[in-house]
Amino acid sequence: MLYPEPSTLALNEQTLREQICDVGRRIYARGFAAGNDGNISHRLGPDRVLCTPTLVSKGAMRPDDLCIVDMEGRQLAGTLKRTSEIMLHLEVLRADASVQSVVHCHPPHATAFGVAHEPIPSCILPEVEIFLGVVPQAEYQTPGGRDFAATVRPFLGRANTVVLSNHGTVSWGPTLEQAYWNTEILDAYCRILILARLLGRVERIPDEKVLELLKLREKFGAPADPRLVEGAPMRVNETFGRPPE
Ligand SMILES: [Zn+2]
Repeated sequence: MLYPEPSTLALNEQTLREQICDVGRRIYARGFAAGNDGNISHRLGPDRVLCTPTLVSKGAMRPDDLCIVDMEGRQLAGTLKRTSEIMLHLEVLRADASVQSVVHCHPPHATAFGVAHEPIPSCILPEVEIFLGVVPQAEYQTPGGRDFAATVRPFLGRANTVVLSNHGTVSWGPTLEQAYWNTEILDAYCRILILARLLGRVERIPDEKVLELLKLREKFGAPADPRLVEGAPMRVNETFGRPPE
């Protein structure tokens, strides 16, 4: 099955428009999007995607401000112009039919890791291991075009949240709420990492306990962590927060 049955989509377009505006207000209130930064999208059907407009604060959108585009980014509906970063969203939506929603913004703590080119360390907080897994960092590219969108391609199907170097974050999920939560979880994590490093050291959860966490993912209906099925390295950026020898 390529796309969920209409009954499982559950939400009608008007409800989705209101939910996108609500997530926009939360993104803005948390300082994840200054000025008119950030964009949000949700799949309406096989070739229809609801998305936020360009040059509008995510804290002040009305349901009628949103746009509808096709999977090539051509605008189908809406009086305002669609976000200039729509290609990033479409890259994610095209790759996985189970993904319904994509959130892109510039949360300061996670973006700080993207500016420092510091890989997000793993095996430190249980919720991050369960809900995000390893968070990769995409290479920098000028925002907006297809080359920019392609920077996340190596991670599609293997992650649900990516740090964009010198730019921000993008996260996705089977619902709008989950796509947004992934961003919120990552930024809270990065804030804690920065604070813990100020305290002087960052300790890891032992590997066998991390394995228990990865197995918990199944209970939440999440795909298996690549570290379980592909034997990818459990620990990323192990030296982060380690006191100098
Ligand atoms: Zn951006």
